Amino acid sequence: MSKRRKAQPILQDCPCGLPAAYADCCGRLHRGEVSATTAEQLMRSRFSAFAVRDEDYLLRSWDPETRPADIDFDPGLRWDRLEILSATAGGPFHTEGTVEFRAHYRAHGTPGELHENSRFRRDQGAWVYLDGDIEN
Ligand SMILES: [Zn+2]
Repeated sequence: MSKRRKAQPILQDCPCGLPAAYADCCGRLHRGEVSATTAEQLMRSRFSAFAVRDEDYLLRSWDPETRPADIDFDPGLRWDRLEILSATAGGPFHTEGTVEFRAHYRAHGTPGELHENSRFRRDQGAWVYLDGDIEN
């Protein structure tokens, strides 16, 4: 056995793009330790949930009115990076908000992007994703 150890990355960057480790960022929301205080934070955490394929989190952060029965993750799709373009309302004292974003992905190695304007609202105090319009 070799005495040399492989260097282990201590911090794994959070997929949402904030300069933090996943475990200290969206991981805390995914584990249910904290909840999103803004619609933008929920948006980021949902992007990360798609990236790490956390189906439970995606379903529980989805409005019960529009929530699908389950989520069909495409095994050939990898979510790479999130850009928040703009947001309206969605703050600690709001009950509704929108977040416009561009989500970059690779589908079987080919880069692509999803540009969406998402709507969020509070459901019993917690931010949830309602629906969104795909932009061009
Ligand atoms: Zn994050």
